[in-house]
Amino acid sequence: MSHARNSRPMQASPRCGARTRNGTACRAPALRGKTRCRMHGGALGSGAPIENGNAVKQGFFTREAFEERKFVRTILIEAETLLRKLPTRTER
Ligand SMILES: [Zn+2]
Repeated sequence: MSHARNSRPMQASPRCGARTRNGTACRAPALRGKTRCRMHGGALGSGAPIENGNAVKQGFFTREAFEERKFVRTILIEAETLLRKLPTRTER
């Protein structure tokens, strides 16, 4: 008896990759939208709640802080390029 196999999408799905007790990588499929399988921290309700502030001390690594630093960086680069385009005092 033969039947068509269509297991390629299933096998192509991203794998968990967590280190198992025998040292190899976990080959279970990672859960949708997560990088780990149901046994390695991908289970529903596992992990910290969204916008968990328990570990925040200074806020240096928060998304807002990252975005603020990125914004300041782009402003500084724009200012520098503008200043370089301006004629110097001797060129006048
Ligand atoms: Zn796993």
